[in-house]
Amino acid sequence: MSDLFVELTAPNGRKYSQPRGLFINNEFVASKSGETISSVNPADEEEICTVYAAGAEDVDIAVAAARKAFKDPSWRDLDSTVRGDVLYKFAQLIEENKEILATIETWDNGKPYLVSLNDDIGEVTSTIKYYAGYANKIHGQVINTSPAKLAYTLREPLGVCAQIIPWNFPLAMAAWKLGPALCTGNTVVLKAAEQTPLSVLYLATLIKEAGFPPGVVNILNGEGRKAGAALAQHMDVDKIAFTGSTVTGKEIMKMAAVNMKNITLETGGKSPLVVFDDADLDQAVKWAHIGIMYNQGQVCSATSRILVQEAVYDKFVAEFKDHVLETSVVGDPFKDESYQGPQVTKAQFERVKAYIETGKSEGATLIAGGEPHKNVSGKGFFIAPTIFTDVTDHMQIYREEVFGPFVVISSFKTEEEAVERANDTSYGLGAALFTENITKAHRVARHIEAGMVWINSSNDSDVRVPFGGVKQSGIGRELGEAGLEAYTNQKAVHVNLGTRL
Ligand code: ADP
Repeated sequence: MSDLFVELTAPNGRKYSQPRGLFINNEFVASKSGETISSVNPADEEEICTVYAAGAEDVDIAVAAARKAFKDPSWRDLDSTVRGDVLYKFAQLIEENKEILATIETWDNGKPYLVSLNDDIGEVTSTIKYYAGYANKIHGQVINTSPAKLAYTLREPLGVCAQIIPWNFPLAMAAWKLGPALCTGNTVVLKAAEQTPLSVLYLATLIKEAGFPPGVVNILNGEGRKAGAALAQHMDVDKIAFTGSTVTGKEIMKMAAVNMKNITLETGGKSPLVVFDDADLDQAVKWAHIGIMYNQGQVCSATSRILVQEAVYDKFVAEFKDHVLETSVVGDPFKDESYQGPQVTKAQFERVKAYIETGKSEGATLIAGGEPHKNVSGKGFFIAPTIFTDVTDHMQIYREEVFGPFVVISSFKTEEEAVERANDTSYGLGAALFTENITKAHRVARHIEAGMVWINSSNDSDVRVPFGGVKQSGIGRELGEAGLEAYTNQKAVHVNLGTRL
């Protein structure tokens, strides 16, 4: 036991026992090397605690546990309805522990508590329940060929799946990956991001109680370059699913080639939000705000590039600025009125500040923010919501992903220009467009190069609808029925029924 748990009191007064170990075979254990990583509260820059960090040797042990559990019929060959029941039970336990999970998420990540509680934990339970329901609805096909032959397909789990998740939605990203992998009978080694190691460890405490056999779900913390890379390169891992930056996604793709792993990648974006002059401007303003300022702007599909048609440009900019200043209340994430907490780490805080300087030196017009927000306690990684206008296509702030409460606005003349400029990016995750003209809406939606298009909304994601990107925003889809494809093989069986040959 000893140092595998630490008693903590969160800033909202909640006392709880925080696990610190690596979760392997349904038990918490120390890392072989004894190495740890430190987790910091981004609101006051104080260390919360340290947790054990996996090295290559720990990764080997976790993968071996997942392999053993995959070979064991108690999971893979479990009646699919019973497998669904285990996932339902897991969702129920998460629901029962939602306040503590939300507390840890907010403390470690900085997102407002009410967002953690209602959005993130809500997303976790709805995702796990959604895939619990799919467990006994995964079918192959019988394919009609000739009377002398029976051909059918079996949908089989892939095997041991490594899942590497980011820090912006730690619990929700864990659920997006665990749900489809587990309902289809795979076993998992999941690695959390080193910036936010705490909430998934608490989630791990619910795994055994839910009834998952040992080794089915293993949860590690550790640095990307060590534990993450060890998973991506592992010869006994069948699949790697990753959410994070495009640069790291490319690294993982290379490493996954060692044994030709199945891959799903969800990476970066610079998603456009296009406002036509016939749009309902009120709606456009509200969604444009959510589209970039939600979650401190730390959303891969954030609509961070706003394109507005000339005739309504000035009006949109004025109304958008007013709405942002009024709504994006920056403050203590444990206070109910806070819309925006701190950036997750000092590194992200510095990154956003550096882009602010870039925007100024590139000659864009800064109309809001552009500096740290110091009024919370004088400490913490808070940034004032930042808006640049008169941004042109060659500027770095127009082309590169910033990942903060930072938005650029530019104007366009025609529909053709809007589409061309929306697509003038190496990314292709989301795109939003605002118009009251139904024909134009669907025409533009078709022409936009993105995995997801929102008409008259932004970032309106739903567990039942596929999520993912094209171009350098990723490969494969998560969520919805499409999310199951990422975790199953189709095995074809040919049965000779006659006396052919
Ligand atoms: P960011 O740059 O925003 O921190 P990353 O893409 O680097 O995002 O990180 C997302 C996840 O990928 C984290 O869990 C991190 O530990 C992991 N990671 C980072 N670098 C590597 C790597 N070289 N190999 C495998 N995983 C990595």
